Amino acid sequence: MRVILLGPPGAGKGTQAGRIAETFGIPHISTGDILRANVRAGTELGTKARSFMDAGDLVPDDVILGMMGDRLGEDDAKDGFLFDGFPRTVPQAEALEKLLIESDQPIDVVLRMLVDTKEVVQRLTGRRTCTGCGAVYHVDYDPPQTDGVCGKCGGELVQRDDDSEDVVLNRLEVYRRSTEPLEEFYWGRGLLRDVEAVGSVDDVGDRIIAILREVE
Ligand code: ADP
Ligand code: AMP
Repeated sequence: MRVILLGPPGAGKGTQAGRIAETFGIPHISTGDILRANVRAGTELGTKARSFMDAGDLVPDDVILGMMGDRLGEDDAKDGFLFDGFPRTVPQAEALEKLLIESDQPIDVVLRMLVDTKEVVQRLTGRRTCTGCGAVYHVDYDPPQTDGVCGKCGGELVQRDDDSEDVVLNRLEVYRRSTEPLEEFYWGRGLLRDVEAVGSVDDVGDRIIAILREVE
């Protein structure tokens, strides 16, 4: 199954991705995670992406498309995938569509995660991310058992540089301007499905899985 999770930063895409990927046996491919790993490793890609990410702006389409072309060529993506954070612009969606048509692997569904702006600002400014395994927590909504320590791998929990309030506000504006047009793009192709992304993590996950079972 080929699934795109669409929704503003803070909608809960990363939080839900692990369960979905496990349930359907598909890899979770997060462009943000790949970019952050490249920034940490100091690769050429990471160097190109860093200033855009720090400012909460989008990394240029050509950089993202080169990176995702490589990722889609890997063996584990041959039978499906769950995209989180990609595509984020209409040109990215068009390029992806072309690539998938060529390999006869069309997208099955685009899940739009619905959550209002006030809630995503609270989620993002309280998010803590594990430097070891990338797991996400929230200081109020989903705190770790031990302050600052990941319950899954024992890694250190930190606040992402781009989760400060000023950068969060820019990211939401960038989402509205550059990514929201994808809703119409995918609606026009009959692929868009909505999921209410407010409530407990388990309830949101149950709703997502129910929709995916319908389109499976
Ligand atoms: P995204 O990947 O869409 O940017 P995340 O999955 O990282 O978003 O979630 C952002 C923050 O919101 C995290 O701190 C996470 O713990 C929290 N969160 C995720 N889902 C929920 C939910 N259903 N209710 C409350 N907080 C949530
Ligand atoms: P995320 O982890 O999805 O919140 O992404 C973090 C940052 O990585 C974004 O604010 C962008 O700077 C960059 N990024 C991630 N995915 C993309 C994409 N598909 N296109 C452009 N930039 C991206």
